[in-house]
Amino acid sequence: MSTRKRSILLRDLKNYLTFLKDYGYSEIPSELGSTLKIQSGTNKKSNYSIGIDKRLNMETKQKLTKKSNIRIEEVREELGDCTRCNLHKDRKTIVFGSGNPNADLVFVGEGPGADEDEQGFPFVGRAGKKLTEIIEKGMNLNREKDTYICNIVKCRPPNNRDPKPDEITACKPFLIKQLQAIQPKAIVALGKPAASTLLGRTVPIMKERGNWYEYEGIPLMLTLHPAYLLRAYTIENRRNVMNDMNKVLKKLKQ
Ligand code: URA
Repeated sequence: MSTRKRSILLRDLKNYLTFLKDYGYSEIPSELGSTLKIQSGTNKKSNYSIGIDKRLNMETKQKLTKKSNIRIEEVREELGDCTRCNLHKDRKTIVFGSGNPNADLVFVGEGPGADEDEQGFPFVGRAGKKLTEIIEKGMNLNREKDTYICNIVKCRPPNNRDPKPDEITACKPFLIKQLQAIQPKAIVALGKPAASTLLGRTVPIMKERGNWYEYEGIPLMLTLHPAYLLRAYTIENRRNVMNDMNKVLKKLKQ
């Protein structure tokens, strides 16, 4: 191979590794079963790496080892037929989460309602339809392909009451592991319980929505819960949620 061809190849390889690192990968499994470490260096995305974004198809992405080494299926397996808190007594189905576990964006809600408990998927009732509308019409994203959606508790609290602190404590490790497995570019906390759980303090949601925070280094946007939006369907609330989502879209493009 000519020196020129070799240097082009090396440059492309370096750019590709930078891209993988930007994406959160720290090592690549090799044929021999060992792993190649991606050297730490600059964290900035090169123009080139942004350009080849689309080339990394899902299959390649799944074969690579993510930083956390946890897969979403393993988190689900570990949760099992959970009886860690009292919510298991009245639930019909565990509502673990749905969407793309490789998504850049994760929405975190409060807990399943009656429809979700029945069907086993988060946000499929009235509030879910509103959330889907926000994602698909408002953000122009595809709910299943571009996002992953889950809740702070995976079982329905009776009569749709707020989850109790001990229930949140029992379920939170699984939310954390879901986020570690997905490693999204941004998280959206829907409403006060989700925001408070992720930030570890009581969040006055009306005051703090629309601001960026961080969860374990991942940008975290707080916004209103779609069920609240349906109850208080004012122009101001709708405009606020759309402004929050526009900030999220901007962050995803960075
Ligand atoms: N509300 C939530 O917070 N989560 C759901 O899954 C449905 C409604």
